Amino acid sequence: MAKTLTIAVSKGRIYKEALPLLAHAGIEPVDDPATSRKLILDTSRDEVKLVIIRTTDVPTYVQYGAADVGVTGKDVLMEHGGEGLYEPLDLGIARCRMMTAGLADAPRPRGRLRVATKYVNCARRYFAEQGQQVEVIKLYGSMELAPIVGLADCIVDLVDTGNTLKANGLVPQEHIADISSRLIVNRASMKMKHEQVRALIDHLAEAVRLRSQ
Ligand code: AMP
Repeated sequence: MAKTLTIAVSKGRIYKEALPLLAHAGIEPVDDPATSRKLILDTSRDEVKLVIIRTTDVPTYVQYGAADVGVTGKDVLMEHGGEGLYEPLDLGIARCRMMTAGLADAPRPRGRLRVATKYVNCARRYFAEQGQQVEVIKLYGSMELAPIVGLADCIVDLVDTGNTLKANGLVPQEHIADISSRLIVNRASMKMKHEQVRALIDHLAEAVRLRSQ
């Protein structure tokens, strides 16, 4: 009998965009996470279970082997560091950019630049690479507010259409990274469940190829 394979998927946009790719691999959830209170979803394949969780928790579940495989944003992986994980496939979904942004007409700060973000590691790394000393302020949401109320000179956030920045009088400034969702695999699962994991990677890779044609 095949071993159970648990896949952790980020809630929301990533889950929605991952569904057609998983369907191509023959994996369709039996329960709808929008209406079901179940945390572990059964799928059309008896041995495959889905856990739909906060995006920042996905690398942790996979790192500790609570899930064999995960789907989450590159932004989350860059911030997490990717320790204990393989990242075999770019799924090409939930695309956006990680950028700095600030008020359109802000004067240059005299002292150290203050940067508000939930991506503190990414921000520190980026500005260090630029040779710029900054003070990074950790926020958990609504980053756009920080420059408006004078909490920070700029933010590091994800930008898709740019509408959120525009609605708050901010402009995108420096491009840090292109972001999309990635398939990640627990290192032990890659060995112990190699055939199952390999088949999943191959099916998803094919789905990604077909989608981009
Ligand atoms: P937009 O107004 O289309 O530029 O979207 C920006 C807002 O959506 C920001 O609050 C981002 O944090 C969030 N966002 C955009 N794209 C993504 C994505 N691929 N994954 C997670 N959050 C995103």
